[in-house]
Amino acid sequence: MKQNLIEIAYLVSAIMFIYGLKRLQSPATARKGNQLAALGMLVAVVATLFLHQILTPIQMITGVVIGSGIGALLAKRVEMTGMPELVAAFNGFGGIASALVAGAEIAKILAEVSSGGLAEPLDGVDAVTISLSILIGMVTFTGSFVAFGKLSERISGNPMSFPGMRFLTLLFVAAAIGAIAWMTMNMDAIGGTGLVLTPMVEAGIVIAIAGALLGILLVIPIGGADMPVVVALLNSYSGMAAAATGFVLDNTALIVSGALVGASGLILTNIMCEAMNRSLFNVLVGGFGGDAGSGSGPSASSEGLTVNSTSADDVAILLSYANKVIFVPGYGMAVAQAQHAVRELAEELAKKDVEVKFAVHPVAGRMPGHMNVLLAEANVPYDQLFEMDEINAEFETTDVAVVIGANDVVNPAARHDKASPIYGMPILNVDQASTAIVLKRSMRPGYAGVDNELFYKPNTQMLFGDAKESIVKVTNEVKAL
Ligand code: NDP
Repeated sequence: MKQNLIEIAYLVSAIMFIYGLKRLQSPATARKGNQLAALGMLVAVVATLFLHQILTPIQMITGVVIGSGIGALLAKRVEMTGMPELVAAFNGFGGIASALVAGAEIAKILAEVSSGGLAEPLDGVDAVTISLSILIGMVTFTGSFVAFGKLSERISGNPMSFPGMRFLTLLFVAAAIGAIAWMTMNMDAIGGTGLVLTPMVEAGIVIAIAGALLGILLVIPIGGADMPVVVALLNSYSGMAAAATGFVLDNTALIVSGALVGASGLILTNIMCEAMNRSLFNVLVGGFGGDAGSGSGPSASSEGLTVNSTSADDVAILLSYANKVIFVPGYGMAVAQAQHAVRELAEELAKKDVEVKFAVHPVAGRMPGHMNVLLAEANVPYDQLFEMDEINAEFETTDVAVVIGANDVVNPAARHDKASPIYGMPILNVDQASTAIVLKRSMRPGYAGVDNELFYKPNTQMLFGDAKESIVKVTNEVKAL
């Protein structure tokens, strides 16, 4: 009876996860979808804790209050620019939780054996699920925290490699596979004398260490513009680790939710790869040689070139008399928190019958969907948002393209400069607009660390300064015209 109730609760939560995911398809319903999926998780957690009599209702309510309090505080405190690192950290915590649960399962088996025998016999499947939970969990944990360091610029975002790195990686993969095989082969004997437990513990430790080192080796060689793919991949790993833990614990809700995160993370990884015009293999293995771009800063080719700088007044005139304007947001818009100001400027232009659109590059910002989140938060109408493929052909017929803190995603070098770390990445064709206005504070490069030839083109004008301050000035001038 109790088990039936738990399974029903898990089924309800699985339906809520799937329906919630479906609602994430559109920005208009995404918030509700997220809330529904969170509610599904609450149902699963409460059913497990209550029906297994792990916690009393009072303890559960205390947990919900403390957990929600920490969540609310984080949501309030974390700057929009800190979101990508926060997501990376969450993935990492998911990974270590999976590894710890598998470790606890080994400890439980040890305790059962030493107190007279196992409650249930173990087989090879148990060994594989426990091993995978540790392995994927540890890879996700360390990999996510290296990504956290790179995204928050605590460590260099450039690709890092050293001689023998590929060999070391293969060595750790071999060690992990060997340890999994060792644990599996010895599993049948466990529960007998108790002496054969050693392989399980030792194999678990080898898998954990190999997984931790593999996670680091997976992420440090990746840099330049390839990080979005790794962020999506780690997201998927955290789901796979949770699904493996679901098998360890024989918990349907965890298997379903882990599989959903794992699968959607893989789909996202694929979308990111397509956005970068790279294969996953190329991203992961390409970095190992350390030749995926050095992030060398301004290139020699820009020496001697000049840029046209402009003023808020001139930009206001240009925009007010344009027929069509496309805004191109990038990471700098998140830094400046300029999204509300941009929406206001768009509204002012619309009042003057200017056609206004927003072009969103799939890897703009520092996490998948970063720009969509910011623009949705500022209530930019969804019908003004266009994906790269939908809008790229329109730049040719656009009077003014306004680049707000974007850099790599509008760099024409991606089309032709084979030496560039962003070579091959499809870009927004801002350079094809009659005039491109670029809002940024200096000539410093973006994430990939390369100079941008767009800035030196005759039809490009630079409006230097913080994006929000610049947009507010332009809006005031537009209003006055
Ligand atoms: P970039 O990182 O290329 O450029 C951002 C620009 O914003 C900088 O050149 C900076 O110039 C400017 N900027 C910063 N602060 C401000 C401010 N307050 N006001 C005005 N401008 C500002 O951003 P993009 O969005 O074009 O490209 C994203 C990059 O990040 C790509 O290389 C992508 O691969 C990578 N990436 C993306 C991830 C994702 O999932 N989306 C994940 C990880 C990496 P200045 O300092 O002169 O102001």
